[in-house]
Amino acid sequence: MALEFLAALFGPRLKLPSDQVTRLPGRAKKAAAAHATAIQATLDKISGLPGLADMKTTKRVPRGFSPLMKELLHHVDAYHDVLREQLGLQESKRPGEPGGCNACYTAPVGVSGIEAINIYRTARPWPDFRELVTKLVEYAQEQYKDVQSGSTAKDAEKVRFGGKAVQNGRLTFAKKLHVCPMLDVSTQRCRVWAERPIVCRSHHPTTPPENSKPDHPDFPKGVRAKNLRLPVRAQVTLQQMDKRIGLELSPFLYASLPQIVQLSDGQQLQEVGEAPIRMQQDGSVARPANRNVAHAKKFQKKTKKKK
Ligand code: SF4
Repeated sequence: MALEFLAALFGPRLKLPSDQVTRLPGRAKKAAAAHATAIQATLDKISGLPGLADMKTTKRVPRGFSPLMKELLHHVDAYHDVLREQLGLQESKRPGEPGGCNACYTAPVGVSGIEAINIYRTARPWPDFRELVTKLVEYAQEQYKDVQSGSTAKDAEKVRFGGKAVQNGRLTFAKKLHVCPMLDVSTQRCRVWAERPIVCRSHHPTTPPENSKPDHPDFPKGVRAKNLRLPVRAQVTLQQMDKRIGLELSPFLYASLPQIVQLSDGQQLQEVGEAPIRMQQDGSVARPANRNVAHAKKFQKKTKKKK
């Protein structure tokens, strides 16, 4: 145990594949410039939504939030499509699609507040939402302990994000082979594919998919990947928005979603002007009644009329 602790302190810093830095060539940046501009324009629109900084008290997302998030992710995908073509990555399997899910054993980190809120709003109506949150909490706590065990910080709460303890803790956690709770293991598809985090969208392993599974002998050193980060200005805008929103959400997806559960008392975070979702006592979303069954009211009325 002591040796493991010393190794965590003084041993080599092993980067997870999703942390490898990819420098984009000038021609690729130029080709994707129009999409980078569109990403920034949409971020500015989201940032300007009235009530964005009041979500903590209103427990509502501003009107127009969801369409703008769709718009943002559309531009992000278009930006990545151009970069994939420029860098010859079309064949690379992405996390969350069949063939690429070995990368989903590494928990998504660096998820911005608006992304976490968007994913929460998508997942909240799922019938198994309660089980999902239980799993997320379990993994978030486990990952937190893995990070803490390699930290020398006096204040256990103040571990530097991006520091050695966090990196080594994330690696230890990945080696435990907990697949992301958002993955539908039977179909090998991410259940929030359309809303998945930008960090998952950015990751493109270029070595064989089996190398990306954390129990592979070559993991993580033998995994090569291109991580197609957003332009710096867009990254800064996302960070500034996080500060303005003031929800202090964790950059770890497994932790930020349970934080939103706490903030919203487990309810859906409705968009202003959106029809409220009917909740049942057990916290699940009430399904609309099936009116095409024999005992439905409309059939009962017809029977009575015939008499
Ligand atoms: S959010 Fe989706 S794509 Fe990202 S790690 Fe989880 S399952 Fe994979």
